[in-house]
Amino acid sequence: MKRYKHLLFDLDNTLLDFTKSSQDALVDVHAHYGIPHTEENLEIYHSINHALWHRVEEGEIMPSDAANTRFGKYLSHFNVKVDSASANMFYLDAVAHHNHVIPGAVELLKDCTVGYNVHIITNGLKDVQWKRLKSSGIKDLVDHVFISDEMGVSKPDKRYFDHVCNTIPIKNMGEALVIGDSLNSDMEGGIKYGIDTCWFNPSEKETEKAITYQVKNIEALRELLS
Ligand SMILES: [Mg+2]
Repeated sequence: MKRYKHLLFDLDNTLLDFTKSSQDALVDVHAHYGIPHTEENLEIYHSINHALWHRVEEGEIMPSDAANTRFGKYLSHFNVKVDSASANMFYLDAVAHHNHVIPGAVELLKDCTVGYNVHIITNGLKDVQWKRLKSSGIKDLVDHVFISDEMGVSKPDKRYFDHVCNTIPIKNMGEALVIGDSLNSDMEGGIKYGIDTCWFNPSEKETEKAITYQVKNIEALRELLS
């Protein structure tokens, strides 16, 4: 592999198992609002949430808009009247409480700090991301953390990468590698900005995108980076 100086790691479903944390948190949400925890209800929630985050990726709304409206929309299906932002806070506290690291990810990150400058690039909400970065130990291992909610712009927007590259700073794009699970935010962002990309793709999905590398697990990523 080409020699890189800066590794730009996505957080959710690349280093932290957001899917698992969210599943646990939704159990808590359902219990709290007296809604049956069924596959059908989870599908309703995910379709509402996915549609909102897609609009964030398209730059139509802010991450906080998606977060603060999703539970109002979801719970209205059950005629549960809530303050949507408060319900979201309940969920986020539960996500932070049920924090799961992808096995081997923190050890990999630690090893990467020898030989690389390591940074986090995440689309997410500052309060919950900072809690999870601290409790997982990731915060102390990395040089910079870029959270879309704090920047007012999300991956794959060019302005997000402008901010990242100006802050670190990265002057030569050839020195950096974006590592993440999302084709729409991580891979698209890197490709558009002229930064090499590594797709963390555990379910071995297919893509037409011109990504640079592809790995299916942390071990393969470790081999690539060593
Ligand atoms: Mg991700």
